[in-house]
Amino acid sequence: MTQMKTLDVEAIRKDFPILARTVHGKPLVYLDNAASAQKPRCVIDAIRHVYEHEYSNVHRAAHELSAATTEKFEHARRAVQAFLNAREDREIIFTRGTTEAINLVAQAWGRANVSAGDEILITAMEHHSNIVPWQMLCQATGAKLVVAPMDDTGTLILDEYVKRLSPRTRLVACVQVSNALGTINPVAQMAQAAHKAGALILVDGAQAAPHQRIDVQALGVDFYAFSGHKAYGPTGIGALWGRAELLEAMPPWQGGGEMIKSVSFEQTTYNVIPHKFEAGTPNIADAIGLAAGLEYLAARGMDAIEAYEHELLEYATAKVREIPGLRIIGTSARKAGVISFVLEGIHAADAGMILDQQGIAVRVGQHCAEPVMDFFKVRATVRASFAFYNTRAEADVLAAGIRKVQELFS
Ligand code: PLP
Repeated sequence: MTQMKTLDVEAIRKDFPILARTVHGKPLVYLDNAASAQKPRCVIDAIRHVYEHEYSNVHRAAHELSAATTEKFEHARRAVQAFLNAREDREIIFTRGTTEAINLVAQAWGRANVSAGDEILITAMEHHSNIVPWQMLCQATGAKLVVAPMDDTGTLILDEYVKRLSPRTRLVACVQVSNALGTINPVAQMAQAAHKAGALILVDGAQAAPHQRIDVQALGVDFYAFSGHKAYGPTGIGALWGRAELLEAMPPWQGGGEMIKSVSFEQTTYNVIPHKFEAGTPNIADAIGLAAGLEYLAARGMDAIEAYEHELLEYATAKVREIPGLRIIGTSARKAGVISFVLEGIHAADAGMILDQQGIAVRVGQHCAEPVMDFFKVRATVRASFAFYNTRAEADVLAAGIRKVQELFS
């Protein structure tokens, strides 16, 4: 058995330059990681290095710079492959992020494989980006969107999920970790049930990939999407992983350069995967930055990161639970580092503003999950979301900050 690493959080904090700054004269307490995480210096340096020393377009030119950039870009693909434990690097398609990855599957796979009377099964806790692309597909094809319910802790009701699988189900699209609640879904179990029913399964890994070890082969899923900017990498880059045989059978999504083998006015033949799905010049420098970020995470150890964040979540949850008038929305037994809450008699936006004045960055609103807010009958929540650079001391600052909000509004 390999021994799990322990995290040197003080050293890690020094790797993230922005964490040293102050906000409104107070040390920054950054608890908006589920929206976008901060970047370690190695990511910033990798992007700067490309532009200063190696930058050129990829795949096309015969010159030295292009060869160097292409090698780095394809190395980035292999870094994503390693991060997800994908079987082959050609199974990794660079996208702008999770949203674009899901839209790619909804449009390219969906239009070829879904027709009237078919069903797409999602869960009640999806982010809008794992609802709307399927609604659009259903509108275009006459298929039906079916929703598996959750209970009042924000846990998926597995029996009800299984009941909703039928020979009509073509695809399950589910979130691995809910951004609004923190719930961790039993994705491997869900995949087994989906396959038994003859359906494929796509996993929205936007909130999971930065916080736990992902092994797409062990999960037994068919598609997996995540965003670089939530995984300590750059904005505007992310990836879709898909099983090679599925990607190969799918028609292309966008047309243009790079995705073709040959073009005439009469006929176009398409390139092999992954290029078939990467029309146009890709986001080269940010893919290289993403690789630096993923390699940084791997060096710290995803198991160690998960264990640390879990312990921090338990500590912070206990702290905020002591506060009278605070209700946590999302109390599932299996949760990742998200605490969503409402304060009696205080609007979430007001709470967010007072916390900000204390240097505490949280998110307020519906978190792109309006159906979740409707289910819990709240208009908005305050969401504190943790990363492996956050500390118990910061959880204490958050709890004290919330009490201050209450004092000001009492
Ligand atoms: N899915 C989940 C669970 C998310 O939390 C988010 C972003 O908040 C997304 C999808 C969309 O990610 P992006 O905006 O990076 O495409």
